[in-house]
Amino acid sequence: MQSYSMLIDGRLVATPEQDAVINPAQAAPFATCARADKGHVDAAVTAAARAYPAWRRDEALRRQKLHECAAALQARAMDIAQLLTQEQGKPIGNSMMEIYGASMWFSYFAGLEVAPEVLQDDAEKRIQVVHKPLGVVAAITPWNFPVVLLAWKLAPALLAGNTVVAKPSEFTPLSSLLVAEIFKDILPPGVLNVLAGPGAVGAELAGHPAVRKISFTGSVATGKKIMQYAAGDLKRVTLELGGNDPAIVLDDVDPTAVIDNLFWGAFTNSGQICTAIKRLYIHEAVYAPIVDGLIERAKAVKVGDGLEPDTQLGPINNKMQFDKVAGMVEDARQHGARIAVGGAPLERPGYFYPPTIVTEVHAGLRLVDEEQFGTALPVMKFRNVDDVFEEANRTHYGLGGSVWTSDLARGEQLAQRLESGTGWVNQHMDITPFAPFGGCKWSGLGYENGKWGYEEFTELKVVNVKK
Ligand code: NAD
Repeated sequence: MQSYSMLIDGRLVATPEQDAVINPAQAAPFATCARADKGHVDAAVTAAARAYPAWRRDEALRRQKLHECAAALQARAMDIAQLLTQEQGKPIGNSMMEIYGASMWFSYFAGLEVAPEVLQDDAEKRIQVVHKPLGVVAAITPWNFPVVLLAWKLAPALLAGNTVVAKPSEFTPLSSLLVAEIFKDILPPGVLNVLAGPGAVGAELAGHPAVRKISFTGSVATGKKIMQYAAGDLKRVTLELGGNDPAIVLDDVDPTAVIDNLFWGAFTNSGQICTAIKRLYIHEAVYAPIVDGLIERAKAVKVGDGLEPDTQLGPINNKMQFDKVAGMVEDARQHGARIAVGGAPLERPGYFYPPTIVTEVHAGLRLVDEEQFGTALPVMKFRNVDDVFEEANRTHYGLGGSVWTSDLARGEQLAQRLESGTGWVNQHMDITPFAPFGGCKWSGLGYENGKWGYEEFTELKVVNVKK
């Protein structure tokens, strides 16, 4: 079984203690990786702190290195994608898209210019506001999009002049470790360090006194702990947390035009997307044809091992998540819900749960109120638009949401009523490098992407000159 090493201070580091990484399509280990201890965390943070003064000095070099990282991701896309599919489960085409997405993020930030702002420049004074890097940044990532979400943190953090210690999820460490190995030949030693290990390693890293900023993507529960670890040293935090996105389909849509987009808005990556459609509200006038269309697609979709070329949906990433999805569907069934399609694991090895449409559901059920993060979609019928917005905004979550209508002006206006970081119209999950991405309420704190994402890795410095 191949073993993967960590990157600390420009060197690949193996450990006697290894963690097995499971391929969810087989529910069996296929590789192992190093496991960091307290000493490794300290070595990585110390290396990052040592690399910081030189790295922050040369902006032109940083931009050049980000371009090189973008090119290297493309050059090795297939190798990383194959590893990603084996550890995460997603179809190989989606893995390739993820690696190309990560490359795009590096290219975007390599070229991003955020000019200093001059507030006053006259005979008396010149007052200027500039962005300064923070120092050592901890980047902690989840298992659903390990590579692109790492890129969302690395590219702006490095552009700003910070150095980074990253800790990928214990379920999907290998693609990040391979990226680290590739970047080892591009970035100066210590500028990027990538550790592996369970949540305890993330906690050790987040609590390390020399870390100045924690950029975290993951669950709400862990996000709350991150804020506590940050408090002692007043570290800066960015939290990208869970979602329970509503999609609201109004009575004026053409059902045949929206079914595909609603289906894939909910089930891409087997529903394991923070901002997937997790609750679907359909106006009663178009409810029946849309639900029928979703059922048809759920029956037709090819679920299988992501390495097989015709697979459209892979397995759920891990046993814990698989049990959670199955448990929520079972709970809904016991409370009178109708399982319109799916509703039972596939009878084969691996964590396969087919796309499942659940109707006759209501607020108060776990499947509606909580984040399922998997292949089960609750679908609700509504009559009154005011009521449905109240219902959609009722949860603690506020990541994304969408409105579906043939009246774009009305859609735009209604999208503003969603209590969420993003409100889409006639689409869900369109994410670009240049728009801010983040959540309100329990879905997060701060933003990633665009100049706003860059600014999260900086602090302001006012330079005030008396003339
Ligand atoms: P998780 O919180 O369990 O783990 C995320 C990361 O935190 C992992 O690397 C894990 O090892 C680490 N971790 C766990 N406990 C820790 C602790 N006490 N201290 C420090 N680090 C710790 O989340 P997950 O199950 O890997 O990811 C799924 C969640 O992530 C979902 O809720 C999903 O919605 C969310 N997510 C959000 C976004 C976003 O941008 N808003 C994107 C993707 C996923």
